[in-house]
Amino acid sequence: MSVNLYDLATPGVQKISPYQPGRPAEEVAAEFGIDKPVKLASNENPLGPSLLALNAMQAVHDLARYPDGSGAALKNKIAVRHQLDVACITLGNGSNDILELITRAFVNPGDEVIFSQHAFAVYPLATLAVSGKPVETTALNWGNDLQAIVEAITDRSKVIFIANPNNPTGTWLTGAELKSFMDQVPQQVIVVIDEAYAEYATEDAYPGYPDCTQWLSDYPNLLVTRTFSKIFGLAGLRVGYGVSSPELADFLNRVRQPFNVNSLALIAAEAALDDDHHVKRSREMNRAGMVYLAAACKTRGLGFIPSAGNFLAIDFSRPAEGIFKSMMQQGVIVRPISNYGMPDFLRVTIGTEDENRRFIEVLDRVMETDV
Ligand SMILES: *Cc1c(COP(=O)(O)O)cnc(C)c1O
Repeated sequence: MSVNLYDLATPGVQKISPYQPGRPAEEVAAEFGIDKPVKLASNENPLGPSLLALNAMQAVHDLARYPDGSGAALKNKIAVRHQLDVACITLGNGSNDILELITRAFVNPGDEVIFSQHAFAVYPLATLAVSGKPVETTALNWGNDLQAIVEAITDRSKVIFIANPNNPTGTWLTGAELKSFMDQVPQQVIVVIDEAYAEYATEDAYPGYPDCTQWLSDYPNLLVTRTFSKIFGLAGLRVGYGVSSPELADFLNRVRQPFNVNSLALIAAEAALDDDHHVKRSREMNRAGMVYLAAACKTRGLGFIPSAGNFLAIDFSRPAEGIFKSMMQQGVIVRPISNYGMPDFLRVTIGTEDENRRFIEVLDRVMETDV
């Protein structure tokens, strides 16, 4: 090797440690000879997508054609859902795409991007990819410390990322907390509120949980992101969206790939929005599973972080990697989160009733032998 590619990479890319996805069920099945592994590692909807979405995809015949590059039909439907002008909507290849569009459009090399300790792993990735400077604030009770974030703002700050609820901790912020925060952020700093789990965190169970898509007129520097990967059960198709002022959306549109959302995803996402029943059923199943798992943790003397998402971070009070590995060998895949600075925790996605029971059974077996 004569060329040192490391030296050729941009300074930000040199610092990136690649995202570690949850292990695919098929891979674990093959490695450990397990018939039907339970995957509770990536916060997917255990019920899958709406039948309306699956059926709608059958009608896509002309895959030789490019998709509608403007995504007009889906954007219209999203605009109606949030009662916003269609010019406020930006579609993404997953909401991950939107998180990258914002740093591409606004972050110069050396500009600061602020997010909390234990925040979603994509924030540092999107920052470093454009050689921005990640600024990590300390957490408060495992969640975002909004005061610490305000205090971290400098002349070089460009973007702030806040997930509400946060992944992997499940912590959440009220509308009052976020509003008072927004009022303290100078308008030349863009605030991204990542609402990937918003449909799980409805106000009946999480009083004061805000719908920040309704705040655009007060904050031209606000971008709210949503996804079809979580409660809508379409993670495999990759589709999400951003909601912002039309002015901000125009800049995202400039750096967007012309056909960033594929034909099947466009059609399926549109149909998924028609199935309120599926969303409700998914949310109810999640609530019941959350109650079951929380009670099971309490009985076993295990701590956990109260969660507004579709997952629970469980505290084993000692390094949890061994428990993760033993559980995987017995066919239950969960997520170690030491890369989030939480080596004693495992993050478990709420599954179906059967999957949750299997998780607890295997956990008990592993805890008995793993001392
Ligand atoms: C899962 C998740 C996303 C969604 O990613 P997609 O690209 O839409 O699949 C975004 N933000 C957070 C915090 C997540 O946990």
